[in-house]
Amino acid sequence: MKKRTNGIIIAIDGPSGAGKSTVARLLAERLGYLQVDTGAMYRAAALLISRAGLDPADLTALEEFCRNIDISLEYSDGRQTVIANGIDVTDQIRTPEMSLLTSRISSLKPVRDALLKSQRQMGNGGGVVLEGRDIGTVVFPDAELKFFLSASAEERGRRRCEELSGNGSRVTLVDTIADVIKRDRQDSDRDIAPLRQADDAIAIDSSHLSVEDVIDKMVHLYREKISSTGNHI
Ligand code: C5P
Repeated sequence: MKKRTNGIIIAIDGPSGAGKSTVARLLAERLGYLQVDTGAMYRAAALLISRAGLDPADLTALEEFCRNIDISLEYSDGRQTVIANGIDVTDQIRTPEMSLLTSRISSLKPVRDALLKSQRQMGNGGGVVLEGRDIGTVVFPDAELKFFLSASAEERGRRRCEELSGNGSRVTLVDTIADVIKRDRQDSDRDIAPLRQADDAIAIDSSHLSVEDVIDKMVHLYREKISSTGNHI
């Protein structure tokens, strides 16, 4: 196994609403690792593209635009802040409209190329939990520990609906489940970096598990991995 300076790379992939962000945040906290929410980065890119009034079908303009975008994640007191071209966009990227636009623009090569580079820079030294759709397959195929977190579409829709309602959005359960299924299809059917489980990823179905159960399972597997390889914690 490759020795990284700060620890290992943990990849958590899976469909929307499977609980990746919560799990990645808590797992990173437990291990003293950095969390990288790559979905938030794609969301921020979608917001920038939309605000610039860019037509995503104009690949030449998009390529030029993406070359100059700067998206970073900051964490303090367990809260993630998303900065896009110097502006805090944390609260604007979580609407249902932005979710669907993100799923659409994230299938485009210029967008993926731009974000892939910064994701690799953030994770390369190890000591990091990255979550997304293609971490274990494309961003870090050599990640030491990979999870594929899923749950039924109904359960994922229910969780997402609760989250959105809690943030003051007016959404219905039926629409949210439909959006989750639509995004699953868009994310899985695209040509570049589709959502799929890496061959060496450990599948966890969180439909009937609490967040604590999932974290305990992951920490247990992490310890096993560390003790079997002698990589430092
Ligand atoms: O994880 P989250 O739901 O915030 O991701 C929003 C969208 O970003 C996903 O539906 C997917 O289209 C895109 N995404 C991606 N690759 C990643 C992470 C997210 O294409 N690694």
